[in-house]
Amino acid sequence: MKNFGLQLWGDDNFVIEDDTININYASKPSLLQLTQEIRAKGHRGPILLRFPHLIKKQISTLFTTFEKAKKEINYQGGFHAVFPLKVNQFPNFINALMDVSKEYNYGLEAGSKAELIIAMTKTPLGAPITINGFKDKEMISLCFIAAKMGHNITITIEGLAELETIIEVNNTINKGVKTPVSPKIGVRIRLHSSGIGIWAKSGGYSSKFGLTSTELLVAYEMLTKNNLLQQFWMIHFHIGSQMSDIVPLKKALREAGNIYAELKKRGADALGAINIGGGLAVEYSQHASNVDRNYSLMEFANDVVYLMQEIAKSKGVSEPDIFTESGRFIAASHSVLIAPVLELFSQEYHEQGLRLKEVNPPLIQELYELYHALKRQNAREYLHDALDHMESLLTLFDLGYIDLEDRSNTEILVNLIIKKSIFLLKDEGSNELMKLQNRIQEKYLVNFSTFQSLPDFWGLSQQFPIVPLDKLDIKPSNPATIWDITCDSDGEIGFNRELPLYLHDIDITKEEYFLAFFLTGAYQEVLGMQHNLFTHPTEAVISFDESGEYHIENLIDAENLMNVLDDLNYDTNELDKILKQRIEDATAISSEEKRELLGKLYLYLSENSYLKTIQTQNENI
Ligand SMILES: *Cc1c(COP(=O)(O)O)cnc(C)c1O
Repeated sequence: MKNFGLQLWGDDNFVIEDDTININYASKPSLLQLTQEIRAKGHRGPILLRFPHLIKKQISTLFTTFEKAKKEINYQGGFHAVFPLKVNQFPNFINALMDVSKEYNYGLEAGSKAELIIAMTKTPLGAPITINGFKDKEMISLCFIAAKMGHNITITIEGLAELETIIEVNNTINKGVKTPVSPKIGVRIRLHSSGIGIWAKSGGYSSKFGLTSTELLVAYEMLTKNNLLQQFWMIHFHIGSQMSDIVPLKKALREAGNIYAELKKRGADALGAINIGGGLAVEYSQHASNVDRNYSLMEFANDVVYLMQEIAKSKGVSEPDIFTESGRFIAASHSVLIAPVLELFSQEYHEQGLRLKEVNPPLIQELYELYHALKRQNAREYLHDALDHMESLLTLFDLGYIDLEDRSNTEILVNLIIKKSIFLLKDEGSNELMKLQNRIQEKYLVNFSTFQSLPDFWGLSQQFPIVPLDKLDIKPSNPATIWDITCDSDGEIGFNRELPLYLHDIDITKEEYFLAFFLTGAYQEVLGMQHNLFTHPTEAVISFDESGEYHIENLIDAENLMNVLDDLNYDTNELDKILKQRIEDATAISSEEKRELLGKLYLYLSENSYLKTIQTQNENI
């Protein structure tokens, strides 16, 4: 894997220069430099960096690509987009998103009351707000309140019962009012076609959402009867996230386009928009053999406008405005999680670990000599000899002929021989060598939680690009497995022979080594769970000024231990009192020691759950 697959997933956002991976923008700071600067302020554990310039890039790419596609065929409808809040609701993200998107009249999509409050407060008046998902009377009333504030808000009806509630709310909230104001109304349609991939459940006939053709006709009649037809202006569908293939989208567009045209011909005069939901895929793969997506944004945009124009033409109706609700595409690239490696777990397989005796069993002596005489020309033969000797030595141990030290020497020497042979024979790439790699994989213990920071890896086996922050001028040689610090065996990103990750061989007691996890900006943060009570990591926003210099802003430290417990509704005053009392009452310690221990305890309580690296521990002791 050259450059850790950067050319596949990187989208020119990062660049490897000399030995570090840098932001490919303005003054091009390295991720290492940013990390060290934040750590110098005393922050430890994993750090999530946000890059608003990457949010801006995604939004402007989306808009300019659709404008280009429209221009090419002289498409008459407009193009609009909203950000679906469920993808990332964190304020440091949303504030940056709204800030960089001002020129695009970009809005927000909400699927719950709390999200609606974010949309009502963060969307500028006039920019679109769309409301999807199941709603009760209160939520619908909130939509009316938003409309009365002057918001350009569309409620998407997911079922007929919801429409009944909208009619009911409209009749009460606008009763006797001089200028009645209601939100615009959209209808989610239930498509025959469905998406593909692990997130495909949002579309298709058995999906949770949307009206069938029969229900659509009933809805149309209900809207007409209750004087709401002039509010009905949008058709909505969403066929699922991370669409790897564009074919299902084309099918859905044909279905939705024809439904739009049919309803218009029936008399839905205000109808003028098709909302195609989200689903634009992000390329997460570090391996050319395993790419996630078979289309470009340009192809996607061309397909959308072309199909809509074709249908509008053939049915003699106006070309609809197009709305997208792409979330993953907008948010994924904006954040990078950086986590320190705490330990390498095959350190014991270093030559220093050998406990050779004055006189060793002959087979061990031979292993030692094989290791030192290993060359490219003899590597395969010596490797086979070593594996053979190992079998014999393990049998000798079982039979009581050699001791534990001999067994340990055997393990170390054979691992060293396998590692060196793989390195010497790496150009041959034979099956046998590949298999042996599994055996010598190095376990990297990394100061983060997969459950908190990469929940889709845990739940859906979604891969995220992983790159070390430095040493990128050196070819990494260790087949790597990553262990997080939860005590759950699922918290492991195992070495995969088909999609291998190699990392550097380092001595963590002498130097720091950090791993960066990319494309973590969509879904991961809010889906992340506090398994083992590891919290959302420390985060910071990296912005650039006109001169190209970077600034580290809005640093938010990960929650401290007491706040975490407070969130679980523990009475932290009580916990505090008990801890204090236990120290006070302890009989084995002097009063001077008690004071000292209390001081330490309070310091620890003010810190977060993540581990400290060896160096910092020394600083504190
Ligand atoms: C989740 C969701 C989206 C966002 O999908 P992405 O794949 O993140 O672009 C858009 N619209 C609706 C209705 C959704 O539920």
